[in-house]
Amino acid sequence: MKPPPFDYHAPRSLGEALDALAGAGEHGKVLAGGQSLIPMLNMRLAAPAHLVDINRLSELATLDVEPGGVRVGALARHAQVERSERVAAVQPLLREALRLVAHPVIRNRGTVVGSLAHADPAAELPAVLALLGGSVRLARPGVTRDVPAADFFVGPLESAVESGELAVSAFFPALLPRSGTAFREVARRHGDYALAGIAALVRLDDDLRIISATVACVSVGPVPVVVDVTAACGHRPPATADWASAARAVQDRVDPETDIHATADYRRHLTGVLAEQALRDAAREATGA
Ligand SMILES: Cc1cc2nc3c(=O)[nH]c(=O)nc-3n(C[C@H](O)[C@H](O)[C@H](O)COP(=O)(O)OP(=O)(O)OC[C@H]3O[C@@H](n4cnc5c(N)ncnc54)[C@H](O)[C@@H]3O)c2cc1C
Repeated sequence: MKPPPFDYHAPRSLGEALDALAGAGEHGKVLAGGQSLIPMLNMRLAAPAHLVDINRLSELATLDVEPGGVRVGALARHAQVERSERVAAVQPLLREALRLVAHPVIRNRGTVVGSLAHADPAAELPAVLALLGGSVRLARPGVTRDVPAADFFVGPLESAVESGELAVSAFFPALLPRSGTAFREVARRHGDYALAGIAALVRLDDDLRIISATVACVSVGPVPVVVDVTAACGHRPPATADWASAARAVQDRVDPETDIHATADYRRHLTGVLAEQALRDAAREATGA
């Protein structure tokens, strides 16, 4: 199928893009990598009257790596972030998660910020942002606001981006000392959206006892489901922590739906298995083992 007709805007600067989006209001859509939007247009699941293509805005193809975290510009492609050694050194979970996103050709074109704005609960990057407590910077002419991850994902394919706004960047906090992360998922084929997935973050104190353990769950709710399992693990060294109890606590918090790919029960089962694996792996990384 072909997309419904639309007016195509090709701004050359951020200011032009913001003006075009402000003018289009609720009838406008941003075109970034197009890996989700173009199929939706072709299947007539979206019919914006104005398409604002940001691909000429090289000023948004940025990757700023600082000790405190990574700021990813709206035109930084998945592959650019995945391959950056500087990003991996500051926040390794980004690379680990990105390797599970679709296939290399899609990652060459798709953008990290586009994936966040798309807000698919089956996508990896929203879970990563939610787990790490990152944020997304939104702009309209003369106004910029930072939205924390906890407020950014509103529902399936619904984010805090309002009509006329552009997501200009996203911030992923750095991995702190004595901390570890892991991402585990099950998909029917490598590159498919996950039936269930878990991003995990474990922090240890100076005596290498757990001070926090958190997961973000993929594909089991309308938005990434963040669960703090610190109490269930106990304030113990990772080797004696009750990871099975922590995994049950995660299972109890998710409310998956049955669809053509998997039953709700199977998704809940996978969530428990993956949560235990990811928490153990994150704790192992935190101990430096
Ligand atoms: C076969 C296939 C398999 C895939 N598998 C996975 C997978 O396993 N995991 C996964 O996470 N993703 C997967 N994807 C999606 C892929 O990661 C997309 O690249 C991503 O979801 C959207 O990024 P994009 O830059 O292509 O955005 P686009 O397709 O251009 O846009 C997507 C939506 O976000 C909006 N948007 C984009 N950028 C902005 C912005 N800067 N400001 C405001 N709104 C914006 C658009 O208006 C649109 O509504 C898959 C895609 C395909 C085609």
